[in-house]
Amino acid sequence: MIRNIFSFAALFLWIFAAFSTPAHGFQTDTVDTFSGPLNITFLGHASLLMDFEGKKIYIDPCTRYADFSKLPKADIILFTHEHPDHFDPQAIEELRTDHTLVVLTEACALHYKEGIVMHNEDVKIVSGIKIEGVPAYNIVNKRPSGFPYHLKGMGNGYVLTLGNRRVYIAGDTEFIPEMKELTDIDIAFLPVGPPQTMTVEMAADAVKALKPKIFYPYHYDHTDLSELEKLIKDVPGVEMRIRDMQ
Ligand code: ZN
Ligand code: ZN
Repeated sequence: MIRNIFSFAALFLWIFAAFSTPAHGFQTDTVDTFSGPLNITFLGHASLLMDFEGKKIYIDPCTRYADFSKLPKADIILFTHEHPDHFDPQAIEELRTDHTLVVLTEACALHYKEGIVMHNEDVKIVSGIKIEGVPAYNIVNKRPSGFPYHLKGMGNGYVLTLGNRRVYIAGDTEFIPEMKELTDIDIAFLPVGPPQTMTVEMAADAVKALKPKIFYPYHYDHTDLSELEKLIKDVPGVEMRIRDMQ
């Protein structure tokens, strides 16, 4: 009898594992859209993969966090800025095919000439996907030299329209006034890794302004996210999801 219970438990665990862990080993969330599922895979730090209508869209793929030779080839690659935890030409080499389109900033384009340069507030349709540029910069946090970690105009956040979902990937930024102008954000990725990006208090203020339906902290390294959960627990309509991004 006990043996049968163990066999049943083992079978259940095997089935559960098979359906919850994709072959590549990274966590994936599925969000419904009018145009079918949006699958979001969390590759580590600020590296993301979005799979929508058969298109593979990578954001800030970086070989420190994932082996891209084992992941699907890219249709679109977006880079938010030139820092090496975000921009990695080796990842482009591992992911690209003849039809891959690379969207990047001017500073990234110094190292990869074949990309599509986007500036803050540009709007482009790339491989059928609407991409809006958003500023990303520091206001408060600066290097010991007094220079901001992220200077206004150098980096981009992006809003992607995927079916009826607007997905905001903030890049390396603090809570900036431009975020208050963003409307109808369904899914927001906000960096919570001071001093280069937001403190938990800044992130809580950004969540209150953006009111995304789903909020993913990312770029968080060793930040205590339980403090952030406490700060936004009473914000109505926002679900905070912590995924393995270390
Ligand atoms: Zn940065
Ligand atoms: Zn960074």
